Amino acid sequence: MTSAAPIRSQNPVDYLKRYYGYDRFRPMQEDIIQSVLSGRDTLVLMPTGGGKSVCFQIPAIMLPGITIVVSPLIALMKDQVGALHLNGISAAYYNSTQTGREQRNIEEDCLSGKLKLLYISPEKLLTESFLSFLKRINISLFAIDEAHCISSWGHDFRPEYTQLNILKEAFPSIPTVALTATADKLTRQDIAQRLGMSDPAIFVASFNRTNLSLQVLPGQNRIQQIFKLLQQKPDTSGIIYCLSRKSTESLASKLQEKGFNAAFYHAGMDPNERSRIQEAFLRDDVRIMCATIAFGMGIDKSNVRWVIHYNMPKNIEGFYQEIGRAGRDGAAAQTVLFYSFADVATYKEMLAENSPANLGLQLAKLERMQQYADAHTCRRQILLSYFSEELPEPCGNCDVCRDPRVTFDGTIIAQKALSAMVRTGERVPMNLLIDILRGSRSQQVLQGGYDQIKTYGAGRDLRFEDWRNYLHQLINVGVIEIAYDQHYALRRGILADQVLYGGRRIDLVRPDDAPKPVVEKTKTKSETNRDELFERLRVLRKAIADEQNVPPYVVFTDTTLEDMARQKPVTPDALRNVSGVGERKLQLFGKQFLDEIVGYVRGRVQAGEKPKGSTQLVTFDLYNTGMTIEEIAAERKLTPGSIAGHLVQLAKAGYDIDLEALISPEDRYEIEKAINVIGLEEGRLKPLFDYLGGRYDYAKLALVAGIMG
Ligand code: ADP
Ligand code: ZN
Repeated sequence: MTSAAPIRSQNPVDYLKRYYGYDRFRPMQEDIIQSVLSGRDTLVLMPTGGGKSVCFQIPAIMLPGITIVVSPLIALMKDQVGALHLNGISAAYYNSTQTGREQRNIEEDCLSGKLKLLYISPEKLLTESFLSFLKRINISLFAIDEAHCISSWGHDFRPEYTQLNILKEAFPSIPTVALTATADKLTRQDIAQRLGMSDPAIFVASFNRTNLSLQVLPGQNRIQQIFKLLQQKPDTSGIIYCLSRKSTESLASKLQEKGFNAAFYHAGMDPNERSRIQEAFLRDDVRIMCATIAFGMGIDKSNVRWVIHYNMPKNIEGFYQEIGRAGRDGAAAQTVLFYSFADVATYKEMLAENSPANLGLQLAKLERMQQYADAHTCRRQILLSYFSEELPEPCGNCDVCRDPRVTFDGTIIAQKALSAMVRTGERVPMNLLIDILRGSRSQQVLQGGYDQIKTYGAGRDLRFEDWRNYLHQLINVGVIEIAYDQHYALRRGILADQVLYGGRRIDLVRPDDAPKPVVEKTKTKSETNRDELFERLRVLRKAIADEQNVPPYVVFTDTTLEDMARQKPVTPDALRNVSGVGERKLQLFGKQFLDEIVGYVRGRVQAGEKPKGSTQLVTFDLYNTGMTIEEIAAERKLTPGSIAGHLVQLAKAGYDIDLEALISPEDRYEIEKAINVIGLEEGRLKPLFDYLGGRYDYAKLALVAGIMG
């Protein structure tokens, strides 16, 4: 295996491959890196999971001095630095949890130029003693992570951040790169200005996270639906966001009763317990986290495979952030939103009670969220349009795209319902209203005298269940409201008058086309087969992570394991081709993962299959029984040349094979002589064969070429 010695390339992509094991940059990463390397102040807006880290880490490796990384998330620094170490990059963090001695060691390493990155919190950075220390070291770059914290417009304002303008005053010639996942324009300008950036290059990456599937499900029987959903995803990590602390607890215990590995998390818990639970989740010891939105800030876990919203969030910003915690590794991840109009009503009540100064704005935001949940068009288009980004084509990865709904003009239905409501004084609840519309002679209808009104029986043509469905749709779009304080009577919603008198058209979805609750799905055979190697690799990853005391996704991401399970590399060179396997990790963990894959491949061969990479292994096993090349070739019905080729590849890959013992010294001498005269074009043995007049077969030629190369 090659050593992880430093490289001297001017090309960032070489560093991406060497240190991170990735073949190519994601959109914008390379331009951002070039901008930073050119010494220009740079502002980066990229969604969570977009890949901001390499945008300052690769410049940090390439630039001569040290990069100071300012981050508010002290709890994360240890894992971030641990991840850098596993990639072979020298980094440290500096904070008040360390002893004086540890801090002095780090200072030494800064002075001697040993470190490429130093992570520090703004509080610590801005002390006078630390600033004067910074004057004595060779700084190449300041990277300000979570840069929105500097802006009071942002959702996570931190007063310490506002002092960061001191950096530009004290170090005017050192470039700054600021990074955030917050998109809006106000915050953007504010960040650049407050950091004192001069003419910054601004990069706004797409906020479209194509690997996240989007789905909205009806809010009835949520728990049953969640059970079914989770049964389809054993051994994956995910978050269920709930509105209240109490519901996180009760949901977690219901899941536990069913045998799921679940826990809960909210801000009302003891801080020690909170960090213990969070850690358990990071380490894959707890799989399902039932949490309030207090959970997730600064959670770097990249293998969250799904996020479920038990309740609808208050606005799209929050929703987007929360689902954004899924699939940071780029592998497919599922998001599900349970939607019921009751949640909307609860928020409205809460808002009305608190009557905040910006009530109007908050209600408008709530409405946008509700529109998303109600949509009969591509949900991703709606989501992105909220962030002023246009998606020209429907996405194909949301429930609407996958299962298009047919709408029809439902204005008459809406008008019938509204008129019946108005004529009953907006006093009757849903079931009674339906009875009236359907001309029922129930006691309640007759007692109320509702059989006398004009719209009595006007909706006979529809089934009771269909009416329920349409009324729910009308509530969701704001044509009808539920008066919770008036015994759940239905009354006119904000759009009602426009529908009754303003000629407003209302589209409805036929009940058969409306989103259906989750149904149980049984796995197909090929799915289980495909997952078997992945599962073994996952178990190995967990064991290594525990031994290294880091979260599993820091060892390898889910994407990398998936790629490994697909490619089934059985040699270090092949393993290097797997996305996410850099040189350092190859050195550290390569052997263990290869052994696991080899073991799996052998097992499949014994079961009569021929998985990728198995042919060399079969040859190797026969070689170990003491057979000659010719015997192996006869047994496998392959040419001796191919068998010799396998053995050369295996030997190069570090398998215990004595190539020299397979050829006589005389033959070897003659062939070597010939190679020295005519040379050897890459892998082409034919010229050599001809030059030697066909006296030596291809197996011998391959062996000598292997020994020499
Ligand atoms: P952010 O900080 O923007 O939320 P990260 O920097 O943590 O995102 O990156 C998210 C994930 O994407 C990480 O697992 C990272 O290794 C991976 N990643 C970053 N750049 C690339 C790339 N060019 N190719 C493949 N994966 C990448
Ligand atoms: Zn879509």
